[in-house]
Amino acid sequence: MLDHMTPVALSQAPELMAKAGVDRPYFAVTFDDGFRNNLTVADPIIQEYNLKPCIFVNGAFARQEEVFFRILSAIIIKNGHGPQLAARMREFLGQHEWSDDGDELFTQMKEHYTADTMERATTQIYKEFVGDPAALMAHLNLEEIKTLQSHGWEIGNHTDGHRLLSCQDNMAAIGAIESNGKFLKDNGVYSSDFLSYPVGRAQDVDQTVSQWLDGHPDIQGIFANNGINLKLCRKEWLRFSLGKHINPLVLDKIIISQIERTCMAYSGT
Ligand SMILES: [Zn+2]
Repeated sequence: MLDHMTPVALSQAPELMAKAGVDRPYFAVTFDDGFRNNLTVADPIIQEYNLKPCIFVNGAFARQEEVFFRILSAIIIKNGHGPQLAARMREFLGQHEWSDDGDELFTQMKEHYTADTMERATTQIYKEFVGDPAALMAHLNLEEIKTLQSHGWEIGNHTDGHRLLSCQDNMAAIGAIESNGKFLKDNGVYSSDFLSYPVGRAQDVDQTVSQWLDGHPDIQGIFANNGINLKLCRKEWLRFSLGKHINPLVLDKIIISQIERTCMAYSGT
C-alpha cells in the first residue's frame, strides 16, 4: 500500500475527503476490539513503517470483565465442544436452528445475534469445558491502550460491551456508546472523534444511532467491516460489501439489498 498510497491518521480523513477532488490515494489503518496482539504483533510493524493507526476499544474488554464472544466461540468449536455450545443455544434461543457442525454454528451465531445471550452462552460453555476466559489475555488493558497511545496510535470508541447497537433498546444502545466514551475519558485516554459500530453491517445500526449522531455532530461513524462507500457521509451507512462476487446478477441483488437495509436503518421501517 505504501508503494501506491499515502498513509494518514484516521482523524485526518474527514477533512481530506471533504475537499473537492482528493489529489491522490490515501489510506488509514484501523483495528477493532482492542486485541492484545495489536500491541505485541502489530505495533512493532506499525512503528517500523511509521503509521498512525486508530484502534477501536471496548471498556468491558479493557477492564477484563469479558472476552469478545466470537473469540470464545471460535476456541470452543476448535476444541471440539461445538455440540455443547449448540445445545446451550437451543436452551436459550430455541426458536432458531443451531447446528452441531462448528463452522455452521459459528455463522448461525452471527446471523441470529441476540445481545447478552450469545455472550452468556459462550462464557458459560468456555468456563465449563475450556477454562477461564480471562486467562486468554485476549484484550488490551487500560495501561496497554495507553502504551499504544504513547506510540502515536489513536484510540476510538467501539462501545462498552460490543453488543450490536440495533439489537438493544434505545437506552442500552446510547448507554453503550456514551459509557465507553466516559470510561476512556475518565481514565485519561484521549479518544478520537470516531465511533466504530460493532460488527458493522447496515442492519447493525438503526434510528437510535442515527439520532444520537445527529445530536453529536463532531462524531464520525465508521463501519469496520469490509465494504465500499462511494460518497462521503458522516454516518457512513450506505455501504457496498461485495466480497468475491463478480456475477452482475448477484452484484445487483447485493447492492439492492444494501440500499434497502440502509433505508431501513434510517427510517426504522
Ligand atoms: Zn468489533
